[in-house]
Amino acid sequence: MAVNLSDFMDWVVARNPGETEFHQAVHEVAETVIPFINANPVYEKIKVLERMAEPDRIISFRVTWADDNGEVQVNRGYRVQFNNSIGPYKGGIRFHPSVNQGVLKFLGFEQTFKNSLTGLPMGGGKGGADFDPKGKSQHEIMRFCQSFMTELYRHVGANIDVPAGDIGVGGREIGYMFGQFKRITNSFEGVLTGKGLEYGGSLMRPEATGYGAVYFLEDMLHHIGQEIEGKTAVVSGSGNVATHAAEKILHRGGKPVTLSDSGGFIFDPDGFTQEKIDWVKEHKKQRGARISAYVAEFGGEYHEGKTPWGVPCDVALPCATQNELLGDDAKTLLKNGCKAVSEGANMPCDMKAIAAFHDARILYAPGKASNAGGVGMSGLEMSQNSARLHRTEEDLRLALRKIMDDIHDACVRHGSEPDGYVDYVKGANIAGFKKVADAMLAFGVV
Ligand code: NDP
Repeated sequence: MAVNLSDFMDWVVARNPGETEFHQAVHEVAETVIPFINANPVYEKIKVLERMAEPDRIISFRVTWADDNGEVQVNRGYRVQFNNSIGPYKGGIRFHPSVNQGVLKFLGFEQTFKNSLTGLPMGGGKGGADFDPKGKSQHEIMRFCQSFMTELYRHVGANIDVPAGDIGVGGREIGYMFGQFKRITNSFEGVLTGKGLEYGGSLMRPEATGYGAVYFLEDMLHHIGQEIEGKTAVVSGSGNVATHAAEKILHRGGKPVTLSDSGGFIFDPDGFTQEKIDWVKEHKKQRGARISAYVAEFGGEYHEGKTPWGVPCDVALPCATQNELLGDDAKTLLKNGCKAVSEGANMPCDMKAIAAFHDARILYAPGKASNAGGVGMSGLEMSQNSARLHRTEEDLRLALRKIMDDIHDACVRHGSEPDGYVDYVKGANIAGFKKVADAMLAFGVV
């Protein structure tokens, strides 16, 4: 019997009440994958999509720690182990007050498809806690990370589940968590990625997500005979992904003019130089530092409480968080002449925005394709740890480029329409789905 999108979504919503981000992520995949399943009934027979929409397991735990005043604090930690059909669970850890089970399920679901697209043997997972690192001292962050890992260590391992960073979790937090894992288990293994170079980290990991999103943008532009050079780029966020995306735009001769945080955005009409981007990277290393301080340092404008989508641009890179670019923002971007969108963040565009980009037939890359460079490099960090060796920066830069080019090719293969327009959402979803579904098919009913 053919699968029907609205019946399938009713079923998903009924069994995951209130988890709106998760419904949104599943809907986006189901819309494009169901016609493929109906054309290939072998997947319907074994209920692959239903099984892929149900995590293998969800672990939720209390994280107790004492702040600098000696007051006891209680947070909730999670690990969603979504699907390990093609490799150990793999996906970041997010520390942000908005973290809840539904958000992590959406991220873990997306991650399964993204990791499949990289071509590397990694399953999908995601974790985090409703902990707010803003304004916390270094010692408080260390104690929180240690307490978090004191439970998480039971559920992870180099061949089981390999977390990485995400919002609120960078190299420093990974270091604290790795130290605690090693101390508890007495095992030095590649249990986390995004590690420091001294203890098993990979060159290019910090740069990989932002650079990868720009490589993917470049691939899309090349496909229609255009270049990044000379193009004005609007970037949101000011963390790891955003600053590296802006930097790579600059390397390619483009002009990045905005960055943002949860307080508002800055617009520098002269464009960012390397010096300005380096300043932002350093400034935002202090968790809680505001992007608004840029204006006192370099000039330009600060727009409190606003997102940057009203600034005229040729290309847009949303690199902050989910649902930060809505239907009306998309209309504004289109009105101002935006021709391409490459997502650095996970699900930053809502469904109305995506529909507007598709209707206007502009280039639109979903995060599961365009931000896969980060986890791709994490996959290479895992293989370097297993082989106990370090690859050179140049070697890894080429490897990242190849991962992004291959994902682009897969999207073109599965998402091209008769008139030559590429539906990158369809392409990414079908290519990501097929590999995981074929593995599940091989395992039988488990
Ligand atoms: P960071 O913590 O380094 O930076 C996050 C940035 O987003 C900050 O500028 C932050 O502002 C802003 N932000 C966070 N929440 C909100 C919000 N609710 N509204 C507006 N702005 C917000 O995180 P990353 O750069 O690592 O991650 C950014 C995005 O990229 C996320 O969607 C993440 O899942 C995705 N991603 C990250 C990868 C990685 O390798 N790091 C890999 C693939 C995807 P503020 O300082 O005010 O909080």
